[in-house]
Amino acid sequence: MSKQISVGAVKIGGGAPISIQSMTNTDTSDVKATSEQINALAAAGCDIVRVAVPDRKAAEATAEIKKLVSVPIVADIHFNYKLALICVENGVDKIRINPGNIGGADNVRAVVDACKSRGIPIRIGVNAGSLEKDILAKWGKICAEALAESAEGHARLLEDAGFEDICVSMKGSDVPSTVQAYEIFRSKRDYPLHLGVTHVGGGTGAAVKAAVGIGSLLLKGIGDTIRVSMMGEPTQEVVIAREILYAVGLRRPELEIISCPTCGRCKVDLEEYVERTKTALNNVKSDSPLRVAVMGCEVNGPGEGKDCDFGLACGPKNGILFAGGQTVKKVPVESGVDELCALIEGAIK
Ligand code: SF4
Repeated sequence: MSKQISVGAVKIGGGAPISIQSMTNTDTSDVKATSEQINALAAAGCDIVRVAVPDRKAAEATAEIKKLVSVPIVADIHFNYKLALICVENGVDKIRINPGNIGGADNVRAVVDACKSRGIPIRIGVNAGSLEKDILAKWGKICAEALAESAEGHARLLEDAGFEDICVSMKGSDVPSTVQAYEIFRSKRDYPLHLGVTHVGGGTGAAVKAAVGIGSLLLKGIGDTIRVSMMGEPTQEVVIAREILYAVGLRRPELEIISCPTCGRCKVDLEEYVERTKTALNNVKSDSPLRVAVMGCEVNGPGEGKDCDFGLACGPKNGILFAGGQTVKKVPVESGVDELCALIEGAIK
């Protein structure tokens, strides 16, 4: 098991639930726009939000931003250790900085001392695009070994300064080498790992790369916090991150609707049936998560939805309602959704 760190009230590693992170794309010195985006991310389910701190104005803005938000904030800093010191003073909850890039041991010591005095962890964030020249020369190209070696080098600098309140990421845009880099690093150090695949653009391709990269590591028990990096509106990252956690079984949604892909046997507009079911059950409160199946035929539907709590299999004329793997009754298919919802509401009252 990895070590545990605390980012504000959120624990990372050491068996804590996998947290979801994202990053604002506003100008951090615009306090209003940035705090509004942070609050929107938090409302969408983001546990920790990172802000870019490229200059002094942005670093100073973190003081005001902290007053306007409730989720922990991470200050993302490259090269300038003085910006890190300002952000620590302003009460940010974590610093993302690579100690090998901040101008030597004295500067590392200054950041470490500031973070120690406030109990603030540091994330080492290695990216394929910013690997050290000597490491690239050694390996001849961007590869898993190079990413892991870079991360280890940065970790050693913090360790030499007596600091182990560390989280580490090694993000490439190539999924296999990113996954392998995390595996290599995990075999050497037990710091909590922040998972992500970077520079993947936007849209479906980016979501798939993130899901495969992050998901395959989580399935191996590697990773403690995740960020889906995507171009566009940041809250979409949170939605996809949550779906990844659902898919690998590390979180369960309150309401999960299972439906089949449909085929020539389906004689109803199943998408419409699913949407109506989602809308109708949206406000239904259950003590435990609900899994509901809405299937496209009565031939395979009941069997495919057997492991769901409740279900409807839609035949051409009649639908079959089922619960806990057993048939409950046959109903006219047009009233199937209403009957299904009534069955569920009656059962969970
Ligand atoms: S459940 Fe029925 S309609 Fe849906 S894909 Fe399977 S066979 Fe086709």
